[in-house]
Amino acid sequence: MTSAVRVPSQPGYDFGLPPALEGLGELAYNLWWSWTPRAGALFARIDSAAWSRYRSPIPVLAAVEPGRWTELLSDEDFMVDASRVLDEFERYLTNGSDSWYRAATDSDPSATLPGPIAYFCAEYGIHESMQIYSGGLGILAGDHCKSASDAALPFVGVGLLYRRGYFRQQIDADGHQEHAQPDLDPAMLPLRRARGRDGSPLQVSVDFPDRKVHAAVWLAQVGRVPLLLLDTDIPANEGSDRPITHILYVRGREMRLCQEIVLGIGGARALRGLGIEPAAWHLNEGHSAFLLLERARELVEAEPGLGADEALRRVGQNSVFTIHTPVKDGNEQFDRALASRLLSPWLKACAMSAEQLMELGRGLGDEVEPPFDMTAFVLRHAAAANAVSRLHGETANATWAALRPQPISAITNGVHAATWIGRPLRRLFERATARSLGSDAPRPEVFDNLAQVLPTDLWGAHRQQKRELIEFMRSRLARQFARHGESPNVLRELHAAFDPETLIIGFARRFATYKRADLLFHDEHRLARLLADSERPVQLVLAGKAHPADRPGQQVIQRIFTLSRTEPLRGRIFILEDYDMRIARFLVGGVDIWLNNPRRPMEASGTSGMKAAMNGIPSISILDGWWDEGFNGRNGWAIGGRDTLADDVAQDEADAAELYRLLEEEVLPRYYARDGEGMPGDWIDTMREAIEAAIWQFSTARMLGEYVERMYRPATRAAEPAAAGSA
Ligand SMILES: *Cc1c(COP(=O)(O)O)cnc(C)c1O
Repeated sequence: MTSAVRVPSQPGYDFGLPPALEGLGELAYNLWWSWTPRAGALFARIDSAAWSRYRSPIPVLAAVEPGRWTELLSDEDFMVDASRVLDEFERYLTNGSDSWYRAATDSDPSATLPGPIAYFCAEYGIHESMQIYSGGLGILAGDHCKSASDAALPFVGVGLLYRRGYFRQQIDADGHQEHAQPDLDPAMLPLRRARGRDGSPLQVSVDFPDRKVHAAVWLAQVGRVPLLLLDTDIPANEGSDRPITHILYVRGREMRLCQEIVLGIGGARALRGLGIEPAAWHLNEGHSAFLLLERARELVEAEPGLGADEALRRVGQNSVFTIHTPVKDGNEQFDRALASRLLSPWLKACAMSAEQLMELGRGLGDEVEPPFDMTAFVLRHAAAANAVSRLHGETANATWAALRPQPISAITNGVHAATWIGRPLRRLFERATARSLGSDAPRPEVFDNLAQVLPTDLWGAHRQQKRELIEFMRSRLARQFARHGESPNVLRELHAAFDPETLIIGFARRFATYKRADLLFHDEHRLARLLADSERPVQLVLAGKAHPADRPGQQVIQRIFTLSRTEPLRGRIFILEDYDMRIARFLVGGVDIWLNNPRRPMEASGTSGMKAAMNGIPSISILDGWWDEGFNGRNGWAIGGRDTLADDVAQDEADAAELYRLLEEEVLPRYYARDGEGMPGDWIDTMREAIEAAIWQFSTARMLGEYVERMYRPATRAAEPAAAGSA
């Protein structure tokens, strides 16, 4: 028995699988493979060249020649492996008896949720082969779905299928960032059309002032959790409406508003069209705010005479909201006239004036005619709201108190351990805990056993992951250097770059200026001395995209790139292009120390440092976001304290000085010291502390439990207002 939400779908691609391997089809369509390395390895065995090219099972299976199946059927090793993976997959899907939610509800049936949680987000980072994410928000959403699946929580995700995704980054020989939009082919992704109640492929429509816009509803299966993705690029739409869902965080404001109307209103209709009755609705960031409008419209339609403002109040009672940024510009706003115009069908249906609705979306500014602020609108209505770290909770309350009398709580982000821990370490952990990180919902006490992992094993696994990173970086950089026209000599030198004995600092994140990617470059001479030290050298690797509209962020990339190709820093600093989940996995698994130095308190949480910590990679970081609560004095280093200077220039100066000092006096001596056995014993202690402090506390398993207890359950107790008609 399982508590999962079931969404029927159209058949997927016909791979012509032999009966004995039929299960591979379902496996290919379930993103469970993305956090189960054994499953990935199985697809790689079918066709290793195709796997390394696509890194996704559907195109691999689609390209298999029938003769290859005959070979595989008589390959005993392969068949044993396949049946093991398929059995494990089957157990994962059907069992659930040892899952967190089943355990909680078996012991206390009153804890059963009266319906599933509907989770809305503008982006989802599940795997790099499905590029419908840009960064932290999407990866958090993906990790949230994966943990909901592990926990067997009744849960359904809703988002958009961006066929042109988020931009791919190249850096040209002068350090300029170049942008290219990918082209996603749904047939080659683990996507199938969801089937509506009448059995036909589900399509929903959304009212615009002069027309309807239609959206196909795709199903991406994330373990036990269905993720619904809306797509307007279908023949039912006029050509001009088809690109609405093409580009993630599209720049044009009207296009962006159209997108968010499709997400909120279309998303709510998709759930209705599937007969799903959520017990609570989770708006992960404000992009999906319009789902409140659609649900209010349903109430008004079902209960003539009900005022729209009262309907909005009621639907807010089982809605919860997570706010993700303390940066003012990070909150989505739309021009008042534009929003009034595009929302006019709703205003008419609900008999509300545009003025009245715009007032409900009034932000913190004091303009006479303020824009419609999505964050403010949701904060006014959602029964509960939370920030994503303790420190962010404080800043969020300070910012929004005027709007929201009830406090904003704090649920610190986490990461999905099975997605982010490298294979060598994962094997060690699984041996120590006698559990599978990917199938069993973890509990905190399980990890007590990690204390038994031997220092030599921990170090050995880290070295293995570091070697894998180095190999990966060399091949990526060789391509980049060749494209830039570097000489064969330089390319040859690259093969010697990255000495595994040398400490590698990793820094990867969006190149927004408040993140100060160039802080370490504050004093170029001091940095050069540090990197080139003959006894304790350092290498630095960076990755990250700057938003196409963020010129200052792009200039930071250019400055660092130029320095990295010029003496004296040349050969010691490298930038990897096109930061994505794959690069992130290599980096957070294989560098030696993770650097994060935003301007406090601008980083709401940050999650890459959590991923690194679970891999035994300590952080050296500003006490901002998660590190403000995660740093315990033993698991890494804090740059500076909790006081901030009013003057940014002085703050940068002070933080840079402290960063250099920490590296020179504490990090490097500890890393390079050897004990009687020739091991960096003290450093390994720090690694172990990093793991133990993070593996439960900064996991999405812990985070999800908090969402259930503190947000979802209380919200579901507020009676679901009689849901009106279907879409
Ligand atoms: C984890 C991750 C992020 C978010 O990390 P931050 O520390 O919040 O910057 C962004 N992009 C990718 C590809 C990631 O894997």
